[in-house]
Amino acid sequence: MQPYDDIVYLKGVGPSRAKVLASELGVRTPMDLLEYFPFRHIDRSKTATVATLSEENPLVVLQGTVSNMTVVSTGPHRERLTVDFSDGTGSLQLVWFAGTKWVRNKLKPGVKYTIMGKPTLYNGQWQMTHPELETDTAGDDNHQPYLPVYTTTDKMKQHSLGTRTLARITETLCGCIAGVEETLPPEVLERFHLMPRLDALKAIHYPESPTQLDAAQTRLKFEELFFLQLDYQYAHYTRSNRSHGIIFSTVGDHFNRFYREKIPFPLTGAQKRVIREIREDLRSGRQMNRLLQGDVGSGKTLVALMSMLLALDNGCQACLMAPTEILATQHYYTFLRLLDGLNIKVELLIGSIKAADKKKTKQRIASGETQLVIGTHALIEDDVVFHRLGLVVIDEQHRFGVEQRAKLWDKGMPHILVMTATPIPRTLAMTLYGDLDCSIIDEMPPGRTPVRTYHRTEPRRPLVFHFLKQQIDAGRQVYFVYPLIHESEKLDLKDLEDGLEMVQNYFPRPQYQVSMMHGQLTPEEKAFEMERFKQGKTHIMVSTTVIEVGVDVPNATVMVIENAERFGLSQLHQLRGRVGRGSEQSYCILMTKDQLSNTSRERIHTMCSTTDGFQIAEADLRLRGPGDLQGLQQSGVLDLKLASIVDDEPIVQATRNLVRDILDDDPNLVSHPMLRKHIEQSKNKLMWSKIS
Ligand code: ADP
Ligand code: MG
Repeated sequence: MQPYDDIVYLKGVGPSRAKVLASELGVRTPMDLLEYFPFRHIDRSKTATVATLSEENPLVVLQGTVSNMTVVSTGPHRERLTVDFSDGTGSLQLVWFAGTKWVRNKLKPGVKYTIMGKPTLYNGQWQMTHPELETDTAGDDNHQPYLPVYTTTDKMKQHSLGTRTLARITETLCGCIAGVEETLPPEVLERFHLMPRLDALKAIHYPESPTQLDAAQTRLKFEELFFLQLDYQYAHYTRSNRSHGIIFSTVGDHFNRFYREKIPFPLTGAQKRVIREIREDLRSGRQMNRLLQGDVGSGKTLVALMSMLLALDNGCQACLMAPTEILATQHYYTFLRLLDGLNIKVELLIGSIKAADKKKTKQRIASGETQLVIGTHALIEDDVVFHRLGLVVIDEQHRFGVEQRAKLWDKGMPHILVMTATPIPRTLAMTLYGDLDCSIIDEMPPGRTPVRTYHRTEPRRPLVFHFLKQQIDAGRQVYFVYPLIHESEKLDLKDLEDGLEMVQNYFPRPQYQVSMMHGQLTPEEKAFEMERFKQGKTHIMVSTTVIEVGVDVPNATVMVIENAERFGLSQLHQLRGRVGRGSEQSYCILMTKDQLSNTSRERIHTMCSTTDGFQIAEADLRLRGPGDLQGLQQSGVLDLKLASIVDDEPIVQATRNLVRDILDDDPNLVSHPMLRKHIEQSKNKLMWSKIS
């Protein structure tokens, strides 16, 4: 049988089953069926008996006879059917709540049946609900040491297409399939010791041993991740034409003077390493696309600034784009302070500056008079023209759409450094940013005391407030953060206003000053509140998550997060990064309701037990799945059939590097006709070019 024949002609299928396979599983051809993978296998050498059941058994197959059929009516047109099943070593109760008529007609005392299902212990008695059931057909598949188990739907079962039947069909198929093409180049198979494709497709259904199953899975995961990487990286290569990067050959006065005279503290080892990595890129002749990851407070800003100075040293301008005006403004003042006396022209370009001033700023950017520009989205407007833009730094990348990144590119193909404080689990970064080189600042500046995090519920609020009072009286400042789902909706502000009232009741004016901050304030109002808080004029900042990103007030040592269960882990981590920025012990208090779901509980527990952003990101990925992580929806990572970006890190890494080497060597895939063919047929192509 050929891979793209009509499945209807496969022995054991026929027109009616073919129809069900198509409608339920989208399986129309032998190839489709081969790629409908079993989710587990049953080891036939370990035939279970009732006597040896344990609750750890996920699924078992038992053989025996039935007796004592009982039907109990449980409502109109509803009944429960129970049957005793015995295999000579003990007995088990089989239970059905649905499809009982069919089962009743089928079951005959004295006949030997094979059942499959998950046994559970109920009041000391083994039960199995809705087992797969068939008359014992011992002998016909005994020669297979491992039986595949497939996910089937109710409709399939109604057409007697349960997993056992499907297994028989795939067994037939494995025996007669031919003509399946290899997709990976022979040198790749050899280098990574991968099974040929057809062998793997057969063995994943009917392996001879666990080792062989593993090898089959590895091969198929490899293929899947390899082509994901190829689609992504190829699209990127064709766009960016990596061989034409502006070459920054010198390290000049700007960089050197700053390094010798201006840095207020020694760089951490990680900062030095990353700056070195960036320097290598900048003088390589290839356009840099680097992702810089580092936990909040790890000192990314300084790395960004020094990279920008390298651009200046090579006769170029550089800009930094931040996601909010507050942040851009804050970076602007930080830069002014750090660069004081170095005679460098720095400017701020954000939406809220006056039109006339903006126009002048743009003129100075166009003439090249302005060397460093800090801004927001305003920077990517079409009328912002640079004299010679050499480097773009994008801070907190997850807030930016990908088209925006692309727009910056069009302003003269600058080098790009993307900084993010949302640690992306390594596997994800490699998958999503297969095209970006990745630098990690994995070391905190010295003298930081890790934030202590506690979980508290409502009854203990008085104690929490008492603690806050002590902190404020000792000169510290406090954040209260409320979740707002839609910043734009008035209604949502109610939580925040109630919170403000509660806080003010406990911390009365004039002794205590409280600020409120949320997304509906104008940029001026926000800046005003932020400044008052920074200067210590207000003691408490009641806020929505607008403070999430980048705000730096070292004297703020306590953060209370209200309704913490409503935040995602990564967001909690971001928020918590606002405290612990000075040398004082800082605290984060997660307030939640009493009753939490298991996932919420685990999330809160994770927060209390670690401050390592990468661990938190991994936990987030595990708890929520990649689907909820920002930017993943369109990425294709979610459509993976077999591979998991969480569990298959080594394969992700291997395929990513392999694809990169192949493309470095042969960007147009001239000597890789198989891969070329894939690219031409790829349905992912469009999707990826949109993103990268
Ligand atoms: P990030 O942007 O990574 O969250 P920042 O660059 O804002 O972190 O740095 C956080 C704080 O740490 C800033 O106040 C900065 O001045 C300080 N800092 C940066 N690098 C060092 C260092 N090597 N030693 C001491 N403090 C540092
Ligand atoms: Mg920062």
